[in-house]
Amino acid sequence: KEALDIQKIRKDFPILQRQVNGKPLVYLDNAATSQTPQQVIDVIVEYYQRYNANIHRGVHTLSQEATDAYEAARKKIQTHFNIAKAHEVILTSGTTHSINLVANGFTAFVKEGDEILVSAMEHHSNIVPWQMLCERTGGVLKVIPMDLNGELVMEEYHKLLSDRTKLVFCNHVSNALGTINPIKEIIDAAHRMGAAVLIDGAQAAPHIKADMQDLDVDFYTVSAHKICGPTGVGMLYGKEEWLNKLPPYQGGGEMIAEVTFEKTTYADLPHKFEAGTPNICGGIAFGAALDYMNSIGFAALAHYEEELLKYATEQLLDIVGLKIYGTSENKTSVISFNIEGIHPYDIGTILDKLGIAVRTGHHCAQPIMDFYGIPGTVRASFSFYNTKDEVDVLVEGVKKARNMLL
Ligand code: PMP
Repeated sequence: KEALDIQKIRKDFPILQRQVNGKPLVYLDNAATSQTPQQVIDVIVEYYQRYNANIHRGVHTLSQEATDAYEAARKKIQTHFNIAKAHEVILTSGTTHSINLVANGFTAFVKEGDEILVSAMEHHSNIVPWQMLCERTGGVLKVIPMDLNGELVMEEYHKLLSDRTKLVFCNHVSNALGTINPIKEIIDAAHRMGAAVLIDGAQAAPHIKADMQDLDVDFYTVSAHKICGPTGVGMLYGKEEWLNKLPPYQGGGEMIAEVTFEKTTYADLPHKFEAGTPNICGGIAFGAALDYMNSIGFAALAHYEEELLKYATEQLLDIVGLKIYGTSENKTSVISFNIEGIHPYDIGTILDKLGIAVRTGHHCAQPIMDFYGIPGTVRASFSFYNTKDEVDVLVEGVKKARNMLL
């Protein structure tokens, strides 16, 4: 395991030089959105300075260049996730869009009484589209329960699976707790019952390089903004056979083969699901972000983040009254916590005054908060560009907040 040169890496991220409220920025909200390295910013600037043009339809040089760069990005995404075919990569606006695309398509396959399983630790974007699907179809939503450590109760999952199960949806990593879910077991068991599986990889992608062929998953989603890319772009991976079966999500330009007022035929994959002018620059920058992350190396990155997580967990647990939610051995560098008697929002506000960016609230995962009987948590999420010194600043900040608020 090679060590990372964190100080060198930090120089790639101009925003880390910022001051907030007169203090050096300590950015610990990486699970919400990661920061963008200069290498990716340069790609975005170059696009608008040199070859901004619409893709897939122009004969002119700029359009050709933009098309080539966009399709090259699709190939980078394909390679990164070990996807068999480039047209199994659908470029979307992000995880939410990707999930809605699949949920909409499954309207054609879910009948009254069919069951859809979701895990108890889902982000709202992975609950609401399925509820909407059930409303349309008479399908029934069932929940795979979790335990106090923030782990799924797998015996219950196996019991819930039946020949009525049409779909199983689960995040690879929980955004609120950091738990890494046993998705291989989830996928294999669902397939034995003939059910399809969508894994929400939004929180896993910054830490784990998921291999689509090895997982044998039916659908997998990613948002570029969590892996050093821009907002408004992401991936839906779908197995070719599923993508061929699903109807298009949106109609418009780019997604058709032929249009008359009597009948329209749809374009081949991936264009069938890519109606309208996409986020061209964003797609190209998504590819550049993967290049950047891969140039560092996912194994080294994950190893360093584990170290940070361990160090931060130990330091924070020294604070009297501090409780961490999500205590699985198998977790990414996310710490969700509260201090007895203090509202998480108040801690977040004081930390911001100290230049420390954390997330407070329910983290779009209200059912998890209800499970623990709390309004929300303070969430510090660490990236490979954070340092142990920053953990120390956080710990001092939390102590200060505790003294002020208690
Ligand atoms: N799922 C999980 C687990 C997430 O963490 C997020 C982002 N917080 C989403 C889905 C939604 O992603 P986006 O807002 O980029 O569509």
